[in-house]
Amino acid sequence: MEIDDDIKNDLAYYGYSKYDSDFFDSNDYNMLCNYFGEKLNINPPIFYFNFFDKKNLIKYGKYFLNKHLGEDFNKKVRYIDYGSINNKIKDKFGLNPKKHEYEKVVDYIKKKSKFVNVYNIPITFLAGNDWSGIAVTYEFNRLFDDSELLKKIPIIESHIMLDPYDDLTKITYIHELYHMLSYKNKGYTDNYLYEELLSIFEEKVSSMELGEKELDFENVESIYGLYDSLMYRTSSDDFYGIKEAQKYILGYTLSENLFHEYSNGNNKIKKEIDNYIKKIISGKIKLEDLIEHFNLTPEEGAKLTIDNYKRYVKKWDKVQKR
Ligand SMILES: [Zn+2]
Repeated sequence: MEIDDDIKNDLAYYGYSKYDSDFFDSNDYNMLCNYFGEKLNINPPIFYFNFFDKKNLIKYGKYFLNKHLGEDFNKKVRYIDYGSINNKIKDKFGLNPKKHEYEKVVDYIKKKSKFVNVYNIPITFLAGNDWSGIAVTYEFNRLFDDSELLKKIPIIESHIMLDPYDDLTKITYIHELYHMLSYKNKGYTDNYLYEELLSIFEEKVSSMELGEKELDFENVESIYGLYDSLMYRTSSDDFYGIKEAQKYILGYTLSENLFHEYSNGNNKIKKEIDNYIKKIISGKIKLEDLIEHFNLTPEEGAKLTIDNYKRYVKKWDKVQKR
């Protein structure tokens, strides 16, 4: 695989070594595109949730992480106060530090950062009426243009951006917390395209635990997201955009497969999956070990996605006719 320059520095900073999958050449993938290309006609009921409450949001994040990772689990991530770290580095080392200075650059960044619990990472709010979220990290991959250096720099968290929409902002928050936690173990997966798997999975677990209405809502939102990615991927020629869309499609189908195991599994299975994720975050194993152990495939995930979608279409048809 020839690594495209657009993405080379991203891979180095986030610790991935590739961005490919056979899935996009498969019949199951074509089936998924054709199916949703013709059939996206969900007619969901209107969901009402309580008003947004920031205090409750952070409390929930802490509760969810303690429940699934355990109270003693180290949830601290590297963080730098919002400020001019980029300018300080530029002043000190210039934009193209010499190779013999790499260690100094890395030490400097490490020294400037501190460890904080991930649910204490500051939240800033977007203006949208939506459930968007972004886990914002310092983009050293935009500052330096040398993958050798970027590989050595730890991923530093900055803040989480969320739409302060309603009580269901909680599930977006959980999604972003798991992005930040997985960055603790830089290179937790080799494949850049797997980056959404854990976050989408935990978003589903969180909505399931909150209730049936919440899980229904999550399904509508994420199926729309999947649909957008499928359409984008088949209509665009923007390399970076296509990779982003592929990331969502692969993350979605694999997480659907993992969530199927989780939601149908007994407590022992649930605990086993939680433990795998704990080991991934703490750097004992890779995400690929979990994929292999539970035999997760996007092909199986695609089939489950369509089954799930059919179930919802039926359910909501009934609701509308009532
Ligand atoms: Zn995400």
